[in-house]
Amino acid sequence: MTASDGKDVKLLGKSKDFVPSVGQGTWRMGGDVSPNRNEAHKVIEALRYGISLGLTLIDTAEFYGGGHTEELVGQAIKGYNREDLFIVSKVWQTNLHYDDVLKAAERSLQRLQTRYIDLYLIHWPNPAIPLSETMKAMEKLVELGKIRYIGVSNFDVNLMEEARSYLSREDIMANQVRYSLLDRTPEESILPYCEREKITLMAYTPLAKGNLAKDKKLAEIGKKYKKTAAQVALNWLISKTPVIAIPKAITKKHIEENAGSMGWRLSEEDIMSIDKYFKKIYV
Ligand code: NAP
Repeated sequence: MTASDGKDVKLLGKSKDFVPSVGQGTWRMGGDVSPNRNEAHKVIEALRYGISLGLTLIDTAEFYGGGHTEELVGQAIKGYNREDLFIVSKVWQTNLHYDDVLKAAERSLQRLQTRYIDLYLIHWPNPAIPLSETMKAMEKLVELGKIRYIGVSNFDVNLMEEARSYLSREDIMANQVRYSLLDRTPEESILPYCEREKITLMAYTPLAKGNLAKDKKLAEIGKKYKKTAAQVALNWLISKTPVIAIPKAITKKHIEENAGSMGWRLSEEDIMSIDKYFKKIYV
């Protein structure tokens, strides 16, 4: 749970790299499918505030804001020691042919104004493009030093196995999937697989778009820890060994709360009571 310096971190997959148990999502920061250039200042300030509170993993994608979100992340991380940050980006599902992956990564690096992406994910599978081609390109990017680690997103167990079978030198370090108390689908097979294979499960939409922050049961349990419902919902996720969570927050109070979801753990008893309340699937 914690590194020697007391930080709430986890090993990324089978790597030797520690990442914070909670990071920062960036979907709808600087636009959704196309750029919104009016909120640059707010987004940069929010991301920098998150970093200052220990949310040093930032999750973005070439798709977000039509590329503008990566530009904002690039501006936000300026001036920091690059090694202190962990930047995740994703290649969109129409760019999965070999050459397209290499070009997409290059464009992301330009927008992020950085030399390397720590973890590069296939955003969504695309059955129309051979996965073997995509994985070879991902491996090439590691060889070129453009990315440090390979991952996938929205892949089921069969696809994860297939993707891994095309890698000769690397392995998949993470699968990013939707996972929260209101969507426990990964517990059916992805979570047990990740646990067994030592692959990080990055939980996206971990607060169910903020809805879990309003939950009365979670608020009640949080009282004894002096934590909010949102903090309990995030802590429940990171109490599972392979799971890290990437909530998105632009509001100062939310960023503070999300950072405060780290550094402590719910008791087994409370985890069981939450599981029961939200219907336990995973055993
Ligand atoms: P989310 O993190 O569950 O919810 C974000 C919403 O919750 C925002 O409206 C935010 O408000 C609010 N919020 C954040 N912290 C809060 C708190 N402590 N208390 C109350 N409300 C809070 O949903 P998401 O943005 O869909 O998912 C998170 C990230 O996962 C994305 O940003 C993206 O990076 C990633 N993602 C990946 C995929 C994929 O296909 N790989 C798909 C979806 C999302 P404010 O912004 O106003 O603070």
